[in-house]
Amino acid sequence: MGSIGRAARQLCDTLPMHDCLFCKLVAGQIPSAVVYRDDDLFAFRDINPQAPFHVLVVPRRHISTLNDVSAGDDGLVGAMLRRAAALAAEHGYAERGYRTVFNCNADAGQTVFHLHLHVLAGRGLAWPPG
Ligand code: 5GP
Ligand code: ZN
Repeated sequence: MGSIGRAARQLCDTLPMHDCLFCKLVAGQIPSAVVYRDDDLFAFRDINPQAPFHVLVVPRRHISTLNDVSAGDDGLVGAMLRRAAALAAEHGYAERGYRTVFNCNADAGQTVFHLHLHVLAGRGLAWPPG
C-alpha cells in the first residue's frame, strides 16, 4: 500500500464508525474469553487456538498493523510484550517457553487489521514457521 493509501486508512481508522472486529471485542459488543484488561490493553483467547494456550493481546486504541505504530506508541508496544510475558508466566509457561508473534499484512497471513500480539504456548512450536 502506498503512502496515500496508508494515510487514507489511518484517517479512516480515526472515525468512530469504522468496522473492526477487535474494536467490537474491546467494546464488549462481541463476546470473548477475556484474560486481561486495563486502560490501554485487552487480551482474550483466540477463537481458533493454534496451541493449548493461545491468546491475543491488543491495544484498546485502534491501530491497523505494525506498520502503523509510531514512536509515540513505544510504551504501548512495550506494555503489550510485557503483558504477553506476564500472561505466559501466570499460566505456567515462562520456563517451558512460548512464542509471541505480530503478523503484518498479506504475506504474514494477517486477517484482522487491528494490531494484535499472538501468545502461543503448551506445545513444541516448529521453527521456521510455515
Ligand atoms: P492474524 O491472522 O490476523 O494474525 O490473527 C487473527 C486471529 O484472530 C486469528 O488467530 C483468529 O483465530 C482470531 N480471531 C478471528 N476472529 C475472532 C473472534 O471473533 N474472536 C476471537 N477470540 N478470535 C478471533
Ligand atoms: Zn480496531
